[in-house]
Order: sequence, then structure tokens, then C-alpha cells
Amino acid sequence: MTGSSLTDALRETLVLFEAGGAPLTTAEVAEQLDLGRQSTYERLERLVDHDRLETKTVGANGRVWWQPSTNGHAFTTGRQRNAIDSDLGEVFDRISDGFYALDDELRFRYLNDRAADLLGLDEAVIGTDIRNGNLTKTFENALYDALETQAPVTFEDHHSPWEKWLQIVIYPSESGLSVYSRDITERKRRERELARYETIVETSPIGITIVGSDGEMQFANDRAEEIYGRSKDEINDLSFDDPNWSEVDVDGEPLPDDEKPFLQIMERGEPVLDHLSGVSRPDGERVWISVNGAPVYDDCEEIDSVVFSIEDITDRFERERKLEQYETVVETAHDGIYVLDEERQFELVNESFADLTSFSRTALLGQHVSAVFDGEFASPEAEQWESEATDELPLFEETITAGPNETQTVENRFVFLDEDSQEQQIGVTRDVTQREEYRQQLVESNERLSQFAYAVSHDLQEPLRMVTSYLQLLERRYGDDLDEDADEFIDYAVDGAERMREMIDDLLEYSRVGTQGDPFEPVELNEVINDACTDLQLQIENSDAHIESGSLPQVSGDKGQLCRVFQNVLSNAIEYSGDDPPRIAVSAERDGSKWRISVRDEGIGIDPEKTDRIFEVFQRLHSRDESEGTGIGLALCRRIIERHDGEIWVESEPGEGSTFSFMLSPAHDTE
Ligand code: ADP
Repeated sequence: MTGSSLTDALRETLVLFEAGGAPLTTAEVAEQLDLGRQSTYERLERLVDHDRLETKTVGANGRVWWQPSTNGHAFTTGRQRNAIDSDLGEVFDRISDGFYALDDELRFRYLNDRAADLLGLDEAVIGTDIRNGNLTKTFENALYDALETQAPVTFEDHHSPWEKWLQIVIYPSESGLSVYSRDITERKRRERELARYETIVETSPIGITIVGSDGEMQFANDRAEEIYGRSKDEINDLSFDDPNWSEVDVDGEPLPDDEKPFLQIMERGEPVLDHLSGVSRPDGERVWISVNGAPVYDDCEEIDSVVFSIEDITDRFERERKLEQYETVVETAHDGIYVLDEERQFELVNESFADLTSFSRTALLGQHVSAVFDGEFASPEAEQWESEATDELPLFEETITAGPNETQTVENRFVFLDEDSQEQQIGVTRDVTQREEYRQQLVESNERLSQFAYAVSHDLQEPLRMVTSYLQLLERRYGDDLDEDADEFIDYAVDGAERMREMIDDLLEYSRVGTQGDPFEPVELNEVINDACTDLQLQIENSDAHIESGSLPQVSGDKGQLCRVFQNVLSNAIEYSGDDPPRIAVSAERDGSKWRISVRDEGIGIDPEKTDRIFEVFQRLHSRDESEGTGIGLALCRRIIERHDGEIWVESEPGEGSTFSFMLSPAHDTE
């Protein structure tokens, strides 16, 4: 070879050597070239190939390079190689591991049959550079390493052409390298498989334990420790029948030993599947578990251990419990309960619902809702209110045809099981037939009573007027002829007749509240109170009353009737004010969707036990001698306020005063 065939890189390297000069180590050359050891080594090797350098191993793992003054020879001669080959050949062929020898230029000097097998080579490779084959980078580096360090190198290498894992040991020697390679593909596969199982076991959401046939816990994964709330050692400290487990069956009864999975498996030698029980964690919390267990046999067909998989089913178990409870609630409810599918056909009904209809429970399933409900709920226009139904539980008064001549009046409420999909509806139906009947009876009876009160008061007026006028005639015509007693008696009679007239008038007014009122319209309460005060002007002036009223709202109602309410309440406040001039305050406050109107006085007050009585007809707490009045004023107020869908009440402390309050709806309700 000539210098002209050298590359620039090789020439640059060669410059460092003086012909016949002192040898340099790879490290020294690398430093001077400012190059990696590996590349330097390769360059040096190439220079040896070109016969421009010589090399020699020094000490255990050193190597030096120098430029010979004349072309020299490689250290290992062909003769030496042949000697080694013949000595060792026989031995190596008998080694079950692959073995081959390389010279210090990494050429095959020898390979045994096994190595030929492992590497897919044959004798023809002898004398060729091992790097011509499919060497992995790891392998190649290991070869350089061994050459350089002169120390054995062990590593595992994957040979992709043959899909083999090899464990390789390279021993440096005077004459080159000896390489042993062992096929560890199967071991690698097992290791991988094991690692895979280990990952599965450790990442599994299922608890896994292995219990030896002696009952000793051999293994528990993290999840098992989590489920039991105990470390493996803590689990192990408890025998399978330790009372600390307080193991119970699904009904919460203590689990007998012979029903415990471990004993069952040990006795029968068969797997136990889906065994449900509850065990206690150290903090006393009960965890419900589903256990699968299977025996593992040893070579002598004896049970070696039992492998358990344990699933924490506490949530599911408790949900099922709740569901059972709900089922009981549904089945024992007096109200009818049903579920409709998206076609509005009955999917589920309870007994009470079937009872409301003319169908049996099973006959109802699959029927369209219109088979049962007669009214709006079953109509095709239902779509419209279906979407409204999500806001609040709509209420339908419906009738159900329950038999040939029978209909039930029901109250029907429903919701969508899933508001988004609006597919299934769940509904509750209450039989209100009887309540409706009572209500109807009550309305009718009230109506009759009103008519009666009206008729009585109206018809009594005429004879009463007669009594009064004849008494007055008697007084006028014969007054002078009668003695003082007779005059007095006539006065009493006239007075009584007058009182009776007042009572009849009041009663007449009372009976007309429901029937003769005006339709509701927006009413300014400020105006109403002014009207009332005008009517009471005389009483106000005489008593020197002071009535203070804040700004009052507009409400919905019958102006005339509301004026009567204020008249009565204000008149009472003045009447029962005690000795001081009456001081009265009228105010309004918002209370939910309504207005609360309050009239407060600082008068004599009312015994709290009697506050209900005063709202009844002709009920008075004072005698006629003490104060005027028929005792119908507050009863009238109550009737009027009730007609306005409100209520009236009083809060009072005797001696301190009373506050009468009533609720009225805001005006926009009528708009
Ligand atoms: P009347 O005033 O005609 O007697 P009401 O029905 O208006 O009848 O009142 C019933 C009773 O309630 C009165 O007799 C009185 O005893 C009591 N009462 C009403 N308002 C007040 C009040 N502001 N303070 C004290 N007691 C009152």
C-alpha cells in the first residue's frame, strides 16, 4: 500500500508519528487529534491495515502504536494462529456455547459449530473481518473495549437477523479476542413475560393474593392491600378466620367458617367464583368484596397455594341495596308510579298505578299512555309541554277510565328521567277522586250557606222594618199616655230592633262577598286608604287619631272590598286605642311573590289566646256597653282577603298594641 491511498484523516494521524520514534497510546493520539477514542482507534487500525503503523499490547490493558522504520509484521503470525487452532479446536467444538476466536484485527480465526449455528455462519468466514457481518453497535464497541482495556467484557445483545438474544463474553488474549456467546432468547422471553405479568398484577384494579396451603399469605398486590386497608404483613397476621375480619354474608350475618372461600377451595380442590362477603377494615369501615379463588397444584398433585382475585364492590353493592329500598318504596306507595319510554308507552308500573286503571299490571306494559289517561296528558300536543316539563314538575288534573262506568280523577306529575335526552318519563299519579268530591261538596255547601245567609238577612229586613216602624208609631201616638217604664221599654225595643238591623245588614254584606264582588283590577292602595279615612273622618276627628301611612303599592283586587277591609281595621284601631289619642301606622312590605300590608296600633291589645276568635262572625271580646259594633267586621275582612287569595292575622301584646297584617297579590298578576 502507498501513502497516496491514505485519506486526509489518516495522513493527519500519521503525522503524529515519527518513523522509528517512541510509541504512542491511543489516548495520547486521541488527545493530540482532539478526537474521540473510538474514532482514533479506528484510524490507528486503518493505518495498521495500510502497514503504516505497528501495534502492541502492553501490560494488562494498554496498547501502543508506532511507525516502523521498515514495513513490519503483525504481532500474531499465521504460524502461531494455526498452533492455537489445532490445540483448542477440539475442546471448543464440544462447548455448548458458541465460541469463536478473533485475531487482533478482528478477523475470524476460529469458530465452533454452535457459534456457526448461532450466527448463521460457516467456516468460510475464517480470515474475514467480523465487522463485515451484521454486528450491532453494542457488539462492535464491546470488541474495541476489550481490545483497548484488555479486560473481559460481558453484555447482552440482540441479533435481529435471527431474532436471538445472546449473552456475550469477550476475553482478550495475547493473540486477539475469544468470544463466547450463549443463546438466552428463551430466558429473555420468560423474563419479559414475567415483567408483563408483574405489571398486570401491580396495575390491576383487582386485588390479587396468593395464600399458601398452610394459610400463610405469600403475596398481595397493592390493590389487595388497599381493599383490605392493611399491609401484606398485617393481612398475614390475621388468620383467615380471625374475628378482626368480622366477615359477613350479604345479609350482614357472620360468615360461617365452612363458607369461607379459602377453606372451601382447600376442601374441594375446586375454584370458588363470585363469592360475595363483607369484611371490616381496621377503622371499622365495611368493604364489600367479590372473591374468585382457584387452587394451584404442585408436582405431587397437592394444593400448593390458592390464588385469589378480590374486587371491591362496595359502591355497586350499596347502590343495589338502595335500589332494593327504592323498589320497596315504589311497591308500597299508595300513589301510582309509572315510567314511559320515548314512544310514551308504559315501561314500568307499580301495583297502585295498575289499581287505578282497568288494566292488570302486565297488560299495561307496552300500552300507549292514552290507553289510560283521558285528557291533555295523553294528547299528541304533549310535545309542547314536554319541553316545559323540565323546569318544574307540571301538574295535570286528569281522568282515568277505570271501568265501564267509572272514572277516577287523578293528579298527575312527571319528570324526565334524563332531562337532556327527554326519552323516558317517570310519573306519579294520585287518586284525588274523593278529595275532589269533598271539595265539590264543600263548594256547593258554601254556596248554599251564602244563599241561605243572604235569603235570611234579606227576608228578615222586611218584618224587622215593620217592628221598628210600629214601635215608633206607638211611641209617637201614645207616648204621652204611657208612664216612664213603658217609655223605657219602648226605647229598649227600638234599640234592639236597630241592633238587629245592623247585624242583618252586616250579615247580608258578609254573605255577598263571594257572589257580588267586582272583578279584580289593579288597585292603588294609597287611594284606597284615603277613601277609607274619608269615610272614617268623623271618628278620626273625634278621637284625635293620627294615621301615618308610607307609600303603598298597587295590588290586584276589588277596590270597594279592600276599602271595607281598611275601614274595619282602622276603625278598630281607633276604637280599641285605650285612653291616649290613637296612633296608627300603615305599611307595606314585599313577602315572596306577595305584598304584606300591616296596620299597627298602640292600643289595648288582644289576649293572644283569643286572636283566632275575633275573625269569626259575631265574635267580640268587648261588651256592647264598652264599645259599639256587631262583631262581624274582622270576619268580613277575612272573607274579603280570602277571596283575594290571601290571609289575614293579628300579632298583639295586651297593653302594647296590635298589628293586623294581610297578604295581597301585586297588580301585575292581573295584567
Ligand atoms: P267589632 O269591632 O264590630 O266588635 P270586629 O270583628 O271588628 O267586631 O272585632 C272583633 C273584636 O276584636 C272586637 O270586639 C275587639 O274585641 C277585638 N279587636 C279588633 N280590633 C282590635 C284592636 N285593634 N285592638 C284590640 N282589640 C281589637
